[in-house]
Amino acid sequence: MATLLRPSGGLVAYADSPAEGKKQVTLHNNQKKPQKKKVVVLGTGWAGTSFLKDLDISNYDVQVVSPRNYFAFTPLLPSVTCGTVEARSIVEPVRNIIKKRNGEIKFWEAECLKVDPTSKTVFCRSNIDENLAGNNDFSIEYDYLVIAMGAQVNTFNTPGVVEHCHFLKEVEDAQRIRRTVIDCFEKAVLPGLTEEERKTNLHFVIVGGGPTGIEFAAELHDFVHEDLVKIYPSVKDLVSITVIQSGDHILNTFDERISSFAEQKFQRDGIEVLTGHRVMSVTDRMINMRMKCTGDDISIPHGMVVWSTGVSTRPVVKDFMEQIGQGNRRVLATDEWLRVKGCDEVYALGDCATVDQKKIVEDIAEIFKAADKDNSGMLTIEEFEDVIEDIVIRYPQVELYLKSKHLIEVSDLLKDKYVNDREEVDIEGFKLALSLVDKQTKSLPATAQVAAQQGTYLSSCFNKMEQCKQNPEGPRKFRSGGRHEFRPFRYRHLGSFAPLGGEQAAAELPGDWVSLGRSTQWLWYSVYASKQVSWRTRLLVIGDWSRRFVFGRDSSRI
Ligand code: FAD
Repeated sequence: MATLLRPSGGLVAYADSPAEGKKQVTLHNNQKKPQKKKVVVLGTGWAGTSFLKDLDISNYDVQVVSPRNYFAFTPLLPSVTCGTVEARSIVEPVRNIIKKRNGEIKFWEAECLKVDPTSKTVFCRSNIDENLAGNNDFSIEYDYLVIAMGAQVNTFNTPGVVEHCHFLKEVEDAQRIRRTVIDCFEKAVLPGLTEEERKTNLHFVIVGGGPTGIEFAAELHDFVHEDLVKIYPSVKDLVSITVIQSGDHILNTFDERISSFAEQKFQRDGIEVLTGHRVMSVTDRMINMRMKCTGDDISIPHGMVVWSTGVSTRPVVKDFMEQIGQGNRRVLATDEWLRVKGCDEVYALGDCATVDQKKIVEDIAEIFKAADKDNSGMLTIEEFEDVIEDIVIRYPQVELYLKSKHLIEVSDLLKDKYVNDREEVDIEGFKLALSLVDKQTKSLPATAQVAAQQGTYLSSCFNKMEQCKQNPEGPRKFRSGGRHEFRPFRYRHLGSFAPLGGEQAAAELPGDWVSLGRSTQWLWYSVYASKQVSWRTRLLVIGDWSRRFVFGRDSSRI
């Protein structure tokens, strides 16, 4: 390896890259200045951006790596597929976000190819045109690494999906879908096609009955019936939309009332919902399915398929998991402070990570073991109350679960059940009860809401890091696992929406509230307008909605 001194005094090193043996550049900080800790953030989605927005950059030297130089407001992606809003209205350039932080954050438009936790280095490659002068490969060293790379579409290795289906994950996907919908109509009206061919071209299939698939189906239905039927009147009766869902209901992560409201609305709208069907393969013309109840195979022709069945881990994250002994897991595991299990100074948040549930059960057992000093298997009431306090502080989901079942006072509930006449607590019975509670407590959903709250939480931890190092006793202490300076991450569910088309929406609000219908759609408009990351995108989105109300959606294929 050769090293050169840069004019600025920093060091540039040339070495072989881990990928394809290309030359690459390593950036070291200027050694003469007092060193700030180097924070490298991978990803500029919900998690990465909310981390950057609140991070106190006076304490850190921050570098951000992402193959996209913008933040995308993903909840409005389905609206982009039909031109209800324009793609540029829902994206904010990362450099605008950085500018607001006085430009002290460095951004590199590149993809992270590999994380090496031993040398604390990330290896990256830019996706910018290779014909431009200069090297596309480089590496960066970190003191703290924040992994916020999101997830990729899960195809379940179904044959033909990658080749013949559209995904709805990125802005480019939504733009591609918009063009293909118009292609299907333009092809269907060409002379010389049989009626059967026209029908096939105008059969739109959505695989996956989750929020994204359903929202897209609703958007498409509105686009077809409000705009396209006026432009292509000759084929208006040949259009069909089908949603294929392997479970028994669509929107099955929502409240039952929402799920059945959506099913009834789709039935009225003529959107066919095939529940209990598993897609076995997809070809350029056909989608092949198996009915779960009978085992029968059926095939239907399609003009376009949108695949929306959930997410899986990106290869770069999988490779990192293998290096740190998490190779047998599906998702990168962190503790409740979002620290990657088994890897110091690395944090992971958003869709690419999950809090390890198994560890929670083990930790609860540890807390008990530590409290049961005489190994009697029993605790006094005071000891018991201390234990409960620790568990609820560390594992808010235990409390959240009990609260959601209206069992507000955790300690009272458990006390009633497990304290004997001598006012002692049976630890084994109690541990069993808690682990059952834990099993029933679902891990956090892969949503923008979770990712954004995790980003804000982690930046507040980073902002207090130095202060806490100087006061190591910290505000909180726990019996096992040493002392922790920060509260664990606590998710606050603010509700979720499912727009269902025709100016109707469903919402699940905190406190088991469900709201359905037109008024909910207006609530959706106001919430989504208010949640935009900048005034620029807010005005653009509101402008697009108004344009659509007045002129309809634009059907040009550009
Ligand atoms: P992302 O937002 O996906 O960001 C990942 C970032 O990592 C991106 O900037 C990406 O470019 C970057 N990246 C990828 N690979 C690399 C690499 N190798 N190196 C460096 N950077 C990399 N959630 C809700 O709460 N409400 C909704 O209404 C909602 N609607 C949705 C609609 C759609 C169509 C979709 C697709 C998702 C929706 N979600 C919604 C889910 C939400 O978008 C995700 O949960 C959220 O984006 C997760 O945030 P994240 O930061 O973990 O990942």
